[in-house]
Amino acid sequence: MVPTDIAGFQVSKKLDKLGMRSSDTAELYFDDMRIPAENLIGREGEGFIQQMMQFQHERFSAIPMAYVWARQMIADAVEYLKGRIVFGKPLIKKQVLRHRIAKWLTEIECLQQLAYHIVRMKMAGQDATLMISMAKLKSGDLLTEVADGCLQMYGGMGFMNDMKISRFYRDSRLISIGGGASEVMCDVIAKFPGYKEAPCIPSFSAPSGSTGSPSKTGSPIPLWVFCIPMIQS
Ligand SMILES: Cc1cc2nc3c(=O)[nH]c(=O)nc-3n(C[C@H](O)[C@H](O)[C@H](O)COP(=O)(O)OP(=O)(O)OC[C@H]3O[C@@H](n4cnc5c(N)ncnc54)[C@H](O)[C@@H]3O)c2cc1C
Repeated sequence: MVPTDIAGFQVSKKLDKLGMRSSDTAELYFDDMRIPAENLIGREGEGFIQQMMQFQHERFSAIPMAYVWARQMIADAVEYLKGRIVFGKPLIKKQVLRHRIAKWLTEIECLQQLAYHIVRMKMAGQDATLMISMAKLKSGDLLTEVADGCLQMYGGMGFMNDMKISRFYRDSRLISIGGGASEVMCDVIAKFPGYKEAPCIPSFSAPSGSTGSPSKTGSPIPLWVFCIPMIQS
């Protein structure tokens, strides 16, 4: 715990964000600060491990946020579609829109059930890192898709800042970035079954009779640089 009244602590100006504007965000500077020993959380030298463990809680918190927001966006959009009459009929009558919503609701339900599964794992004292990473990945992707799709259903009105959906759209975008980007979640997930970074092979000689096009000199030529996903047993 770092007391903010010790010399060396500084807060940059408030950062101007796309979304989550109700929460202040700023860069914090810690220059040559001396912190009382009793402020240490956990054991010295284990900060990184503790932070990695903390990430599981932070990432989990994104999951209910995602399914609750997604359902709210859909409920709001459905109300709008019921009241928006185009060529004499409410937009909710359009099957294509109802089907889109039905698919989102199905995915949202899956995400919620995965959240419950994670809670049960935690209650049983099991490591839920893989499930949390998968659910965080799905949360970001699904929320971005639902926010974008719901905004579309409002047409031009969705583009107006005084509509709630435009705020949902901006705020939702953080979920696939904050607490570890979706690509980082994929990296974590891919480590579990043993997928590792692929070795890159810069060049090789085309074997005779292969479809590779040999150079006129017949010397080894770089055909392409490619990475092969390796599966460890
Ligand atoms: C509003 C807001 C609040 C925040 N609050 C906090 C906070 O309270 N505490 C805190 O510690 N941090 C906070 N952050 C930081 C946040 O956790 C990071 O922004 C986030 O983890 C992404 O890291 P980065 O910005 O360094 O992106 P980078 O690491 O620079 O990555 C940029 C992009 O590159 C791609 N990428 C990154 N790694 C990989 C990979 N392995 N494979 C493929 N592609 C990859 C992804 O698309 C990623 O979005 C906050 C950020 C925001 C926007």
